[in-house]
Amino acid sequence: MIKLSTFAEVLEHANNNNKKLFEVFQDQEASLQEKCISFVRSKLAESLDVMHSSIKQGLANKELSPTGIVGDDSNKIIKRYTNKEIKTPFGELYGNIMAYAIATLEENQRMGKVVACPTAGSCGIVPAALIAYSEKFDISQEKQIDALLTAAGIGKIISFKVALAGAIAGCQAECGVASTMAAGALTELMGGDNEKILNAAALALKNVLGLTCDPVAGLVEVPCIKRNGFSAIHSATASEMALAGIKSAIPLDEVVDAMKQAGILMSPLLKECSEAGLATTKTGMHITNNLNINK
Ligand code: SF4
Repeated sequence: MIKLSTFAEVLEHANNNNKKLFEVFQDQEASLQEKCISFVRSKLAESLDVMHSSIKQGLANKELSPTGIVGDDSNKIIKRYTNKEIKTPFGELYGNIMAYAIATLEENQRMGKVVACPTAGSCGIVPAALIAYSEKFDISQEKQIDALLTAAGIGKIISFKVALAGAIAGCQAECGVASTMAAGALTELMGGDNEKILNAAALALKNVLGLTCDPVAGLVEVPCIKRNGFSAIHSATASEMALAGIKSAIPLDEVVDAMKQAGILMSPLLKECSEAGLATTKTGMHITNNLNINK
């Protein structure tokens, strides 16, 4: 039985056995589930299929959510990035990463099928980064599964220390951890070594410490949907920094400890109960009080 519970242990095990992080994560998962590696990979292939279809469905459907607040923002981005008359400065990949993340959340709000990675509220970040990049560079399914294993393994190790829920540790534990997972996946896809993958993850997580969970009307809409778009781009930034050779001054295990502490110190009012922050702004309250579903 392989039981590695910190990133330091995972890295040491990987380096001692001349393995990539995704190989260690898949060995550990197979061992924990008492299944073979091909079973683990086949489950991830199924998840990858769902990720693809949630992006596709999300973009195809322009219906607003039951609240009428959100639902067609992903298409606005695609429209801007496919308009030949507009010179977009950051390129198609940038636009697709944002749009795919938001499309997945829009699909979630329409009660479509998504992969919670790590949660439904943050379900757009990993698929957007992974699939937008893979489409652009024609990455094979096996390589995409390697990257997904990297993301999943990072999320799992963090979850050994902190519950991945806005109600426990704020949005740093949802969109924050999702961008950490996506940073690792992207770095794997772009050929980064084990150290660079963990540096990308640490850089991503450090930048979201203290992120609150204050959804308007208690719904996974405002700020969650657009936050997925931001967070997916954030993961790409962290990955690019790490691939350039920038190291996190604080190792990933210690960043996770800091995240846990920030979650404990955060007011309960800012942990998913919608009793502070954006939820109680004048406009947040106006939206809440005028929701059809509340009448
Ligand atoms: S703000 Fe709260 S509900 Fe929304 S994604 Fe973040 S943790 Fe989830």
